[in-house]
Amino acid sequence: MMRQYELVERVLRYDPKADETLLNRAYVYAMRAHGHQKRASGDPYFSHPLEVAAILTDLKLDDATIATALLHDVIEDTEATRAEIDQLFGPEIGVLVDGLTKIKRLDLVSKKAEQAENFRKLLVAISTDIRVLLVKLADRLHNMRTLEHMSPESRRRNSEETLEIYAPLAGRMGMQAMREELEELAFRWLHPEAYRTVRERLDRLTENNKGLVEEIRQSLVEKLGEAGFSAEVAGREKKPYSIWRKMQNRQISLEQLSDLYGFRVICRSIEDCYRVLGLVHTTWRAVPGRFKDYISTPKQNGYRSIHTTIVGPRHQRVELQLRTEPMHVTAEYGVAAHTFYKEASLSNGKASLPDASREMGPYLWLRRLVETLLEGDNSEEFLEHTKLELFHDQVFCFTPKGRLIALPQGATPIDFAYAVHTDVGNSCVGASINGRQMPLSTALRNGDEVLILTSASRTPPAAWERIAVTGKARSAIRRAARDSLRRQYAELGRRLLSSAFAKIGQDYSDDRLRRALSRLTHKTVADVHAAVGRSELPIADVLRAVAPEAADLLPAASRPRPRNRYENGEGGDEGWFNLSKVIGLKFRWPTSTAPGASSAGQGIVIRGIRNDVPVSFEPGGAVPGDRIVGVLTPGEGIRIFQIHSPRLSEFEHERWIDVTWDINQEEPERFPARLSVTVLNEPGTLAQIAQVIGEADGNIDNLKMLHRGADFTEMMIEVEVFDLAHLNRIINGLKSKSVVSKAERVFA
Ligand code: MN
Repeated sequence: MMRQYELVERVLRYDPKADETLLNRAYVYAMRAHGHQKRASGDPYFSHPLEVAAILTDLKLDDATIATALLHDVIEDTEATRAEIDQLFGPEIGVLVDGLTKIKRLDLVSKKAEQAENFRKLLVAISTDIRVLLVKLADRLHNMRTLEHMSPESRRRNSEETLEIYAPLAGRMGMQAMREELEELAFRWLHPEAYRTVRERLDRLTENNKGLVEEIRQSLVEKLGEAGFSAEVAGREKKPYSIWRKMQNRQISLEQLSDLYGFRVICRSIEDCYRVLGLVHTTWRAVPGRFKDYISTPKQNGYRSIHTTIVGPRHQRVELQLRTEPMHVTAEYGVAAHTFYKEASLSNGKASLPDASREMGPYLWLRRLVETLLEGDNSEEFLEHTKLELFHDQVFCFTPKGRLIALPQGATPIDFAYAVHTDVGNSCVGASINGRQMPLSTALRNGDEVLILTSASRTPPAAWERIAVTGKARSAIRRAARDSLRRQYAELGRRLLSSAFAKIGQDYSDDRLRRALSRLTHKTVADVHAAVGRSELPIADVLRAVAPEAADLLPAASRPRPRNRYENGEGGDEGWFNLSKVIGLKFRWPTSTAPGASSAGQGIVIRGIRNDVPVSFEPGGAVPGDRIVGVLTPGEGIRIFQIHSPRLSEFEHERWIDVTWDINQEEPERFPARLSVTVLNEPGTLAQIAQVIGEADGNIDNLKMLHRGADFTEMMIEVEVFDLAHLNRIINGLKSKSVVSKAERVFA
């Protein structure tokens, strides 16, 4: 295990100004915190954070990052707290360690292949600081290096995650060396047979072609020397995993791979890169379509090089990469590369790093780089399917089973529910976020675990459409509302038909109607029900189709007539007039004299407001205990009036429907009523009114000042109450106040 002074010396070697005390304190703190904890290998646990720190010294990272590496597991695995880290090491390191703790918690959820891209984005979103990702990658690298001590199951899982999430992330950050080592380790554990085979064939091929490779290299060096260039030419070792992947993708054998022979030419300047390119292309034939100039157009992750493939001395395809030394370091270490090029190399003007890094400080520059890197990348592999400019507007949440759900910023549990499944959305009644029950309007945040509470057979409230932000949720809510309304009309239609058949002494059944469908213009029984409920199809037409023998009873006036006549604005009332006369429906109050007294098959029973038939209340409202009348209105269902409502007289008696209350005592609902209240003009009057109503458990829905005189004000209050007794309690309560001169119910 590395000694304390060794680690500190490594840091001081590349950064003499590093905070030695900080490193020592972090070392001692982490070692004590992990105490006697052991790794699966039997080594002291502390050897792990120490090795992670060592990996990061290879990348020459700053003292805060090294200290973070030492501390990266203490919050999750020991008694240490964020507050303690903040206090002892300052908030900068506190934030970094906290980021790693959050990521570690995410490690517990499953990451399926199809979620990998989202998971990478989540990692970046949670990290907020590039150094958190660098420590995380080093952490993963060390765990992969010591995987042999783990169970076969966790080897497999770790290797899969590494291939799907961490290696591509390293690649996206331009860290090729890190990416290759992660890939090779994971490949070995995941596909040991394939790894061995590729490795052996690759070794054999290298052995057989040793002469050839050296010959190509020699002739390159010769040509360059003759032309007066001093450039370094190195053979490029191909890695088993990248070869295996190419073989898989292109279904070809190892020997058929064209770019097995790769060389890297490190030139002294950018100008030299282009001159060497010219020389190479005039000496050997270039393979068409294989030339790429990433020097003039760097990749988003900062990668710069010229790529070309030539037909070499022995008619072998040879892949060449031309680059300068700084470009080479950037290619290997990506976002971590800047540490190799502090003031000194930037000042020669040839470094591949932007001058801005000096003004912004290295890490602010790094953050900017990562932002650009994630915003849009022309690098081939990982971004083709993803519009990353959308990335900053996204949040990533989990189901309790670990499925990752990506949503737009501002999304709510309702959006989440519909993203999981439309049925889940439609039956959603509540949500628990990270174990706490929260309102459905809560805006979700990155990493939230969301549990949707559901209840069978429920229609999503229309108001949800305003809460939801995703198109999927909104259109599903609209569709559910339409379906529900349609069901309500169908139910109303079915009841109207039953009632009408009973009046002519016949039994209604869906089967009878089905057999008569050919005589009607509707395809299904439900369609007929809905059309009757909406008053688009006269009941008389249905009677005539189902029971033609009863047609004799029908007067000429109600013989077949044009459809949609209500839309023409004429005849609507007449239609209902005729119908009720013909079939003897006396939808007239008070044919049954008390609520609940109407005989089965005659009255329409109203249960609550959220009904299975479409019901609306007139402005004056009506509450259980009131005598009520329904008025059947084409396209609007049943409008409910209190029997004393003056507006009721506007409708012919023939359109009145006998309706009765059917209240579910288990789940009392509120119903609307209007009060007219006259009060003295005194300070605090309104507060007293509101208090009386509130204390009596009434809901004030609306309040309007109608008339303001010198001494008195008349106001209209819309309240919601459970029943008539409740309403009367409120009225009496109001009357008992000395400031109230009058309180009474009104119906319009
Ligand atoms: Mn760790």
